[in-house]
This record gives sequence, C-alpha cells and structure tokens, in this order.
Amino acid sequence: MQTTLTQAYGTDSPEHPLRLLEIPRRALLPNDVELDILYCGICHSDLHAVKNDWGGTRYPVVPGHEIVGRISRVGAAQTKFQVGDLAAIGCIVDSCRECTHCAAGDEQFCEAGWTVVFNAYDKHLGTRTYGGFSERIVADADYVLRMPETADLAASAPLLCAGITVYSPLKHWGAGPGKKIGIIGMGGLGHMAIKIAKAMGAQVVVFTTTPAKMADARRLGADAAVLSTDPEQMKAQRGFDMMLDTVSAKHDVNLYLNALRVDGSLVLVGLPNQPLEIGPFNVVNGRKRFAGSNIGGIAETQEVIDFCARHQITADIELITPADINVAFSRLEKGDVKYRFVIDIKA
Ligand code: NAP
Ligand code: ZN
Repeated sequence: MQTTLTQAYGTDSPEHPLRLLEIPRRALLPNDVELDILYCGICHSDLHAVKNDWGGTRYPVVPGHEIVGRISRVGAAQTKFQVGDLAAIGCIVDSCRECTHCAAGDEQFCEAGWTVVFNAYDKHLGTRTYGGFSERIVADADYVLRMPETADLAASAPLLCAGITVYSPLKHWGAGPGKKIGIIGMGGLGHMAIKIAKAMGAQVVVFTTTPAKMADARRLGADAAVLSTDPEQMKAQRGFDMMLDTVSAKHDVNLYLNALRVDGSLVLVGLPNQPLEIGPFNVVNGRKRFAGSNIGGIAETQEVIDFCARHQITADIELITPADINVAFSRLEKGDVKYRFVIDIKA
C-alpha cells in the first residue's frame, strides 16, 4: 500500500530518549480521514509502553493516544466528517465490527482483537501503528470522535484516554447520588475521576500518597481527601460502594478492600507491571468484588466528550512543546505533573 512519511516523536529502545522520526501513514482508504494533529496528551501508559514495562513493545515506538486535531483530508466514501472539522482519536482505531462485543459498542473487548492506535498491527498498512506524538494520523472515520468547536482543545485531549477510562467504570458501577466513591491515586486518571464522579452526583473521597495534593483534591471537587500513607486515616475509612484504583505502581489493595461496604467493588484501571496480592479474607468477608475496566468503546468515548462539554469539564494540564517530551516523561515517572502533560504539536 502507498504511504506518506510523517514527522513523529518516538524511540528505538527503552533506554533512549524520544527523538524526531519519520513514520509511514497509509494512503486514505475510502472510509478514512486524515487528522492534522494539534494536541496530544501524555498518559502513563505511553511511559509504560516506551519503557517496555509490560513487555511487547516493538521499536521504534511512537506513543500518544489522546489526540485532537482538524480533519485535513477525507476518503472518497466517508460522510461523517468534512475537511476543517475538529476531531479526536483515542486508543482504538479498528476492530472486527462483527463480534458480540463490537456490536454492543465494547470494541475494547473485540474477540478478534482491536487495533490500538500505537504499537499494534495495522491490517491495511501491513506494519505497525504509530500514535499521536506526530504531525498527522490516518484512521477509519468510524473510530474517530467528534469534538465540539467550543472545546478547550488542549485541555480536552485527556478525555480521549483518562476521561473515558474513568467514566466507563464509574457509569458501569452506578456512581451517582447516594453513592460513596473512592478514587485511589490523583494523577491524570485520578483527577479526571474526581471531576466526573462529582458531576455524576456521587460523594467523592480521594486517596493520595502525596500530602501536597490534598488541598487540590478539594479544589477539584472532592468531598474529602485521605493521606493513604497514614494508617490512622486509613483505619477510619468505611462504607464505600466503589473504589476506582488508578495507581500506576505496585501497592497494597487490601487497605482499600477493607474500606468497602458489603457487596462493594474495588475496580482496577491502573496497570502496574507487577501482580497485586489480595488477602482472601478481605474479599470473602463482605462478599466484596475485585474488578477491572479497560478504557471504553467508541460510542462511550463520544459520550464522555459530550458529557464533559455539558458539564464544562476539562483536564488540568501542563502544556509543553515537543522539545519538552523527555523532561515530561521523567517528571511523569516521579509523579510530578499537575495533572496531565499535553503536547502542543505545532509549537
Ligand atoms: P499518573 O498520572 O502517573 O498517576 C498515577 C498516580 O498513582 C500518581 O499520581 C500517584 O498518585 C499514584 N502512584 C504512583 N506511584 C505510586 C506508588 N508507588 N504507590 C502509590 N501510589 C502511587 O498516571 P495515569 O496516566 O493517571 O495512569 C495511571 C495508571 O492507569 C497507569 O498504570 C496507566 O498505564 C493506567 N491506565 C489504564 C487504562 C485502562 O484502560 N485500564 C487507561 C489509561 C491508563 P498520588 O500522588 O495521588 O498518590
Ligand atoms: Zn492512556
């Protein structure tokens, strides 16, 4: 297949910093669109992938899955977008479209395997997919989201992963009025979870290991903040309907299982690269559930964009230039970001 070369930021190995690369983008298929990328968020998953934390990273890798931009070209048969429209791309750029999960709008559970926007096999191109740390991207319009013209684009980019990843389980587990929800970890995902769970009407308590974030948790709308490294504060926690665990490194989940009410659920979205241990009594006693959730489907991603537009929710971001990506990665590794880095691709 014909390709065009595009400038992108990626790396050849986990030890090397990201640098300017040239990557192929496929020629437009009939239902494809090309996005001229304006902003791309930096998720901890980008860092895990670049460092090969989970195994399976193929180099060169170009990360980035919180992508917003303008449509610059459209395929001959696609009718969803016009040149000049604002649009966005998250983690999913293709799936089988036929299995029960695709039919239900849960493309992230596609039985044939969905195509991740980077570090995956592009069945049309016959090579790897490359992510949003780049000038432009081509994808099937069915997997491209609409962005409202009124959106603060840079601060909305994180909705494409952080937003949907917390919205989907909060909705699935019924966060809303009368529900007590714990948010564990106050990084990119965690700070979005505070805003979204509050907008859903839930009571929200944040658990952080960083004392300096406690005042910020309240500013972002949390009803209370707990220092999770303080055993006295942790012992006092009870009656949670659901806890959403966004922590990126190994940690003790038993502390949180103990704070659930009978039939409560601890839902993992964080992806540490080591197993987490569960004390059997901590789930048996109280019929508790330890569950997980993976991003969300395409329709639900559009839903979270629209929900956040209605509730005027965006991420708290630090806007950087492409030249700052490596500094941002090392700061993210230390948990030093308030609360999402977003790359201004044109800067
Ligand atoms: P992030 O911005 O780095 O936030 C992670 C937070 O976890 C930190 O801010 C910190 O919060 C807490 N933390 C970090 N190390 C810790 C430790 N050793 N012990 C206890 N707490 C610690 O990362 P993110 O972008 O929000 O992503 C969070 C995780 O979700 C990553 O593993 C990422 O790969 C994963 N993820 C999963 C999905 C999915 O679909 N399931 C989607 C996106 C991301 P405090 O300072 O408040 O303690
Ligand atoms: Zn992500």
